[in-house]
Amino acid sequence: MKIKQYISINGNNVSFNGGLNKETLKEIRYVNVDLVSSSLFKDNIITDFQENKIVAWCCQKVVMLIKEINKKYGLNLTLPKGIFVRNFDELNLKQTNMYGFCNMQPVKLFKNKDVYVPSRTLFFNSFENANYFKDKKFFNWENIDEISDFRFANKSAPTDYFLDIFFHEFAHVIHENQLIKTLGANITAKKLEQIEKLQKTGLYDKKYGKELSKICKSAVTNPLEAIACDISKIMTENINQDKIIFNINPLKHSPYDDDNYMRLFNTKLNKILRNFWKGNFE
Ligand SMILES: [Zn+2]
Repeated sequence: MKIKQYISINGNNVSFNGGLNKETLKEIRYVNVDLVSSSLFKDNIITDFQENKIVAWCCQKVVMLIKEINKKYGLNLTLPKGIFVRNFDELNLKQTNMYGFCNMQPVKLFKNKDVYVPSRTLFFNSFENANYFKDKKFFNWENIDEISDFRFANKSAPTDYFLDIFFHEFAHVIHENQLIKTLGANITAKKLEQIEKLQKTGLYDKKYGKELSKICKSAVTNPLEAIACDISKIMTENINQDKIIFNINPLKHSPYDDDNYMRLFNTKLNKILRNFWKGNFE
């Protein structure tokens, strides 16, 4: 759906207003992907967008927004080391129909290349394999409005705003850096390894599932997803969606605000998120 339209899902009218406006669409159409890459290189981000204008434009926008709030509100949110558009069929992944993911630990990610991909690197799907998918329109970046609405409607995303996918992946980098800063690289690596084991026990779901499902279904997956979904939700709630700018510090009075955290009125959910933010995943 495009902006400010209504559709009916299971008989309920749902309003969508997180879409791209005309001006933005025009900007994207004329974006020079090479210029985006050289501009991001100045921020120490290596990129290869494979001419994907939407991913390039959205990533540059999120980088600009993060730099802006860092400067304006004295935050220290970190940027990824690299951003790549790739055919996910060529990667060692359990699931290849994802829109994007953040590589959290150095791994041999490529099936045919014997190289380690560093942590805090983002990947977005080129969907070259989209022919295999049943509903092709949801695997084409051109339809990012429809994709965002669909993800929100089936509760896999906390918002229908088109930048959600990007805020989410950037949030993983911000979180990992926070963990490394407070726990050190070795402990962080161990904690990340623990997560999968924790999930398998089912205890995680039992203990946190109910509260985390208030954010969205994806937030229930594991502590890292909970934080990334919640940060994207907070960013979206605080951004001026038409102008795509922040007029306030989006993270103020959130579980990610170290200065004000003690003074917050804390809900059960905020306490859980605060623990995850600090690396207390159990
Ligand atoms: Zn994620």
